[in-house]
Amino acid sequence: MTDPATNPRIEIPSRAPSATAADDIVMPFEVATLDLRGRVVRLGPVVDQILTRHAYPQPVAKLLGEAVVLTVMLGSALKIDGRFILQTQTDGPVRMLVVGFTAPDKVRACARFDKDLVAAAIAEGKADAGALLGKGHLAMTIDQGPDMNRYQGLVALEGGSLEDAAHEYFHRSEQIPTQVRLAVAEELRAGLGGADHRWRAGGILLQFLPKAPERARVADLDPGDAPEGTVPHTPPEDDAWVEGRALVSTVEDVELIDPELSSERLVYRLFHEPGVRVFRSSEVRAECSCSRASVEAMLKSFSQDDRDHMVEDGKISVTCEFCSANYVFAPGEVEAKAG
Ligand SMILES: [Zn+2]
Repeated sequence: MTDPATNPRIEIPSRAPSATAADDIVMPFEVATLDLRGRVVRLGPVVDQILTRHAYPQPVAKLLGEAVVLTVMLGSALKIDGRFILQTQTDGPVRMLVVGFTAPDKVRACARFDKDLVAAAIAEGKADAGALLGKGHLAMTIDQGPDMNRYQGLVALEGGSLEDAAHEYFHRSEQIPTQVRLAVAEELRAGLGGADHRWRAGGILLQFLPKAPERARVADLDPGDAPEGTVPHTPPEDDAWVEGRALVSTVEDVELIDPELSSERLVYRLFHEPGVRVFRSSEVRAECSCSRASVEAMLKSFSQDDRDHMVEDGKISVTCEFCSANYVFAPGEVEAKAG
C-alpha cells in the first residue's frame, strides 16, 4: 500500500545493529516514546519444513503459512509450558486450519481441504485467503498448564483474511489497539537440479499499551441498530497509535520475508525517528508434540467397537496429521484395561 511518491523509502544507515537476517526467530521490540510494543517473526527453514512436508496446493500452503506466523506471533508471548492453538472452521474449500504452538519454541500445523474445490478455486483465480476460507470462525485457545483455566477466544470469519480476523480478535476480546501484518512467499533459487523452491514467512505485530488506559480506547466497530440520526460514539484515536499504525501499515510483504533484511533493520527502518529498542530474540522449531504414548492413550480412550474398526491386516496404524509420523500397534496393546 506504499505510495512511492508520498512515502519514499527510508535510507538505512550503515551502522545498523545486525546486518544479517536471522531466521526462525521472534524478536520483541519497544517504541517507548509512543507507548508501542511489538514482535517481529521471521521464518525460514521452520515454515519451509512444515509446508514442504505437507505438499498442499500452493494457495493452501500459503494460507497455512500465514496461520503459522500468526500462531508463533501470539503463542511466543506465553509462559513456560503454555500451549496456544489456532483453529479455523469454515465452509470454504479449506475447511480447517490447525496450528499449535507449545512454549517455548515448538510449532506444528496442518490443513483439511476439499481437493476439487481448491483446484476449482485456483482455476477461477479466486484462491485468496478469504475465498479459500469462506465463512465460519477462528478459535484461539490458550492453555497455560493443568493449574490454569483454558481460555478460548472466538472471532467470525466472513470472507476476510487472517489479518482481518486477528484485528477483530484484539478489538473485541482484548480491547488493545493492535496492527498485524503477515506475509508468506516461495523463494526461488537456482539449484543443481533446476530451480529450488523454499517457503519463507514473516510478520509484525504492533500494540498500543499506554500507561493511562483511557488513551487506548477503541472506536466501536459498528454503531449497531441505533435509531437513525444517532451519531456513533467514535472517540478520536490517540496520536501515538495513529502514527504507529501508519508506520506498520507501510511494511511490504517483501520486507517481512527478505532474507537479507534483519529484524533489527526492519524495525529500525520503521521506527528510527521515535526510537526503537529491541529485546533478545527467541528461537522457533518445527517440531510435533505427538508421541507413541499419546497415540496409545488416545486409542485406549476409544470404544472397543471403534478400535475393532481400525484393525487392518491384524494391526492398528495411526498416522499423525501434523508430522506424518506413523504409529503401529497390535490390537492387544491398546485394549482398555477392564475394571
Ligand atoms: Zn506428529
